[in-house]
Amino acid sequence: MWIFKTVQDLQNWVKTQRNEGKTIGFVPTMGALHQGHISLINRSKQVSDFTVASIFVNPTQFNDPKDLEKYPRTPEKDAILLQQAGCDVLFLPTVDEIYPRNLNTSLNLNLGSLAEVMDGAFRPGHFNGMCQVVKRLLDIVNPQFLIMGQKDFQQFSIVKSMIKKLKLKVNLIMGSTLREINGLAMSSRNERLHPDERKKAKVIYESLLFAKELLKLKLSIALIEKKCTEKIEKTGFPVEYFSLVDGNTLLPVLDAKSHDLIVACVAVRTSTVRLIDNLPLKGKP
Ligand code: AMP
Repeated sequence: MWIFKTVQDLQNWVKTQRNEGKTIGFVPTMGALHQGHISLINRSKQVSDFTVASIFVNPTQFNDPKDLEKYPRTPEKDAILLQQAGCDVLFLPTVDEIYPRNLNTSLNLNLGSLAEVMDGAFRPGHFNGMCQVVKRLLDIVNPQFLIMGQKDFQQFSIVKSMIKKLKLKVNLIMGSTLREINGLAMSSRNERLHPDERKKAKVIYESLLFAKELLKLKLSIALIEKKCTEKIEKTGFPVEYFSLVDGNTLLPVLDAKSHDLIVACVAVRTSTVRLIDNLPLKGKP
């Protein structure tokens, strides 16, 4: 596996492959890799000749400086995992490579309500920073395929919208969510959970499954959200939101019958980290 730390080195490699007609799949990450990330590498390998993964803890998408500072960083272990998975290139840039002083990387995108609801409301500026880095990375890597996880459903929806708005020539592919044995969605932040909280956090996935049951029983949306919130809060985790939203617009669902795609999205605080998860309850994203 090649490891490139500069934009120049990566682009030289990309140019050579593109000139030979090879296709490139790209998996952007913030590192502290787990099997969820590796499943995206596998997905990329299915659709493209070469797979590029990036590890970049993007400062512009952290609204909480403590979260940025404490974000787990394990580059040596990550490189081994990627190599074992058959990833072709690891792009490991510095902040100055991604945001050089002489380059304006800011984006003036109107993301509309997609970026205002749920995490948009709780993490001001997060999605702008995320779009900024994804656009910059796409400009650098120039891949045919971009593989991102359903785990971050709102992020995925916003990137999809950005690609459409900016008419970017890249195919966005959704990778399904990998879970720990107890159902907790894999996340780099799980490493910062206290062991007892990591066990208890299975309630997040259980509440999503519960929502699916309740929707089948035709309970009202408001009651489903209330019951699922209570189920989580009983274990001691405050819930930021538990929302049943339209999977295309991310706007609240009022009447299940009028939507083909309904996704339950949840954000929860533990004593050390904030966790998000989601589950489609009706239709497939
Ligand atoms: P991150 O490193 O957390 O920014 O995530 C990088 C990519 O991995 C994003 O596209 C995430 O949606 C995806 N991802 C994170 N957790 C999982 C998971 N448990 N299963 C599948 N993909 C995931």
